[in-house]
Order: sequence, then C-alpha cells, then structure tokens
Amino acid sequence: MIKIKAKKKFGQNFLKDESVLFKIIESMPNNDNHLVEIGPGLGDLTKKLVKCKDVTAYEVDRDLYAILQAEFIRDIDNGRLKIILVDVLERWSNVSSLYSDKYDLIANLPYYIATNIILKALDDENCENIIVMVQREVANKFVASSGDKDFSSLGVITKLVSKKAEIVLKVPPESFSPPPKVESAIIYIKKDLNKSIDENFKKFLKICFSQPRKKLIKNLSSNFDKTLLEKIFNKLELVDTIRPHELEPSLYSLLYKGINNGREHTASTDKC
Ligand code: SAM
Repeated sequence: MIKIKAKKKFGQNFLKDESVLFKIIESMPNNDNHLVEIGPGLGDLTKKLVKCKDVTAYEVDRDLYAILQAEFIRDIDNGRLKIILVDVLERWSNVSSLYSDKYDLIANLPYYIATNIILKALDDENCENIIVMVQREVANKFVASSGDKDFSSLGVITKLVSKKAEIVLKVPPESFSPPPKVESAIIYIKKDLNKSIDENFKKFLKICFSQPRKKLIKNLSSNFDKTLLEKIFNKLELVDTIRPHELEPSLYSLLYKGINNGREHTASTDKC
C-alpha cells in the first residue's frame, strides 16, 4: 500500500470506504459518455472507473501524478486512461470544456474549490452528468428547492439547467483518510443540455441573495429603480414581503427578464 502524507492545501482526504466507492460506481448512468475525474489522488476511484470506461483525470499534485503514472502504466499505455497534471480551474479558464465530447464528471472533489468546480461543470456544454462527493453543506445548497432554508443562487442555477439534482448518499468523516472535519455527501446532477445560464443572470442572482434573510425587493432596490421593481412584482403577482429563498427558479428568470425589459424601455423613452 502506498504511504503518502496528505496535503491540506490540495484538500486531500482519500476515500477508503469500499462501500462508498461502490455506491459512486453504482450511481453512474448507463450511457456512452466519456468519464472525467478531477483529483484522482491515490487512484482508488480511478481504478474502478477505468474498469467501466475510458477516463481523463486532472490532478494538480506533482507527487501524486508521479505515483499515478507508475500505478496505471498499463491503462495509460493502452489509452484507457489519460492523466493531466494541471490545476483544473486554471485549465477551465482557458478551454470551454474539459473533454472534446460528451462526458460525465465523477469525482471525490477537493472541498476548498468544490463549489467553483460544480458551477464550471454546470456551464460546460459537454458535461452531462455530475456525480461528486462534496462537503454536506455544499451538497444541500446544490439540491435545495425554493422554500428550503438552504435555497440560494446555487439552487436556482442548478434547477434551471438540470433535469434532476439529488443527494445519493451521506458520508461520515471516517470513510476518508485522513478524515475531514466535516460531513460529506455524494450528489448527482443530471443536466439538461438544452439549457444554459448567462453570466449577467448569475450577477443578478448575487444581488437577489446579497442579504439572504432580507426581503427580495430590498436586496434588488440597492441596484434597480424601486418603481420599476414594484411594477414587475405586481405583474408577476409577487408579494413584496417575499424572501430570496422563497421564490421559484422560473420566477427568477421572469423577474430578470422583466427588469431588463423595463430598464431598456426606460432608456429608450429617456432618449426621445
Ligand atoms: N479521488 C481521490 C480519492 O477519492 O481518494 C482523492 C480525492 S481528494 C478529496 C482531492 C484530490 O483533488 C487530491 O488528489 C488533490 O490533489 C486534487 N486537487 C486539489 N486541487 C486540485 C486542482 N486545483 N486541480 C486538480 N486536482 C486538484
């Protein structure tokens, strides 16, 4: 067995529980998609993934990369596995997709960047399914529905671009070595590849949830005209006491459109 000191700065908590590894594999959809793994670590999950399909794995740690190259020499030689030594977020800032064809992202993610990785995967037009281990609190946010106390901009985005988002399994710290300080969970997001979200809508959501427990209209009025907001709230039959976590994702889209149309209209009348 390989002995290596886990590096905190890379969020290294190696998954050692065979039943959890098995659950990840069992949850994978039956399709022809390629597999992408982020952070193969010591290769426990990778070993199981290459038995199912061809895999591309992204690892940032040079020491682990060297170990993996030796451990998986046969899979690498026969083209079953490709390991890329890179910071995956850096790679994603230079390319629109982590793979040239449809793929599923299967990973035990480094928690310090898990939210950003999932947001990137939701934007990546080739990524169809996301099955990842994350911190339990983060998992709750991605699968939350309107009305839940955990419902945030992450939940709105996920609901608008996916067909389903659910927790597959809650995982205790003892399943890892070293054990993380927090509880974990595996989430499964099945994306709707016909849907996408633009960056301006994400900025709009940031404003909506700037003070999550305050009234939505109050958060919005820091950026938009109060009269315009009242008009749109009336049109959408929204009470002005509604809080950000109470609004349905589809209504966020309508609110965004209404505000943009209203501002364009005001700008064009101003010009006359
Ligand atoms: N997959 C292994 C397992 O399940 O035991 C390791 C998971 S460990 C939680 C996270 C892995 O992500 C580590 O191998 C770590 O080095 C890697 N990692 C951390 N930051 C990364 C980054 N920016 N890009 C790519 N890999 C990264």
